[in-house]
Amino acid sequence: MVLAELGGSISRALQQMSNATIIDEKVLNDCLNDITRALLQSDVQFKLVREMQTNIKSIVNLEDLAAGHNKRRIIQQAVFNELCKILDPGKPSFTPKKAKPSVVMFVGLQGSGKTTTCTKYAYYHQKKGWKPALVCADTFRAGAFDQLKQNATKAKIPFYGSYMESDPVKIAVEGVERFKKENCDLIIVDTSGRHKQEAALFEEMRQVSEATKPDLVIFVMDSSIGQAAFDQAQAFKQSVAVGAVIVTKMDGHAKGGGALSAVAATKSPVIFIGTGEHMDEFEVFDVKPFVSRLLG
Ligand code: GDP
Repeated sequence: MVLAELGGSISRALQQMSNATIIDEKVLNDCLNDITRALLQSDVQFKLVREMQTNIKSIVNLEDLAAGHNKRRIIQQAVFNELCKILDPGKPSFTPKKAKPSVVMFVGLQGSGKTTTCTKYAYYHQKKGWKPALVCADTFRAGAFDQLKQNATKAKIPFYGSYMESDPVKIAVEGVERFKKENCDLIIVDTSGRHKQEAALFEEMRQVSEATKPDLVIFVMDSSIGQAAFDQAQAFKQSVAVGAVIVTKMDGHAKGGGALSAVAATKSPVIFIGTGEHMDEFEVFDVKPFVSRLLG
């Protein structure tokens, strides 16, 4: 179920509940079951959906709601709040400050859109007057440096990498040092992805992180990852201090539920979403407008 369909299904469930003459236990349960089904079909993790259902039922205690209370509004508000709660870990991520050097490290599986997203993130900040720079610490994938170089050149963003050096830690450290000297205020380190969550990938990430001491680690996740999202995000979080999530390919036919799961697994907010292959197809992510839009 794609994100728009998910919103439609939840809205329909709420509308049906609203149309009932009397809102009793059965009407509420039917509504919550419809919402549960829609969330599960969108790949939101089962445990999260169960928690959400329990929370709504404890907030909306029909017997205790005195006559005259607007039950419809209370239920709608509870659903809205619970969806926001899943997407809001309760604490904002580290936000880089202009003119003060920050190191931001990107991690994620190969193909998630990590390299593309590094450039989008750099380009977004450059347009706002920052001085970003890109470091390619992916020595595993042949062509990774060329891809970053091409993107960086197109966006006129300074970059650093090597065709010869095979130690990603060395490249990362050299790149960060060089751009600190050049007074760049946003130094972005792209790391290796690999196909699977393998021990060597996590060890390399840990080493790059230890050596460059990033102010923020961003986990990049493909929105079509589905039910695997929770475990994948959690595995990354256990290896490096993930502080924020960027969900890519939100323009495709992806099931959006993975984003909700990634937030829960990393206890970190989604800060941007990728909505296309181009450099400027990149949007700031805000929970409340997103959920409002989702529910139409
Ligand atoms: P990496 O292996 O994680 O570095 O992934 P890449 O940055 O090379 O991206 C893999 C593919 O996904 C490329 O073809 C990108 O153009 C594409 N891609 C990345 N982000 C998005 C997005 O937000 N929307 C769409 N449609 N494609 C994307």
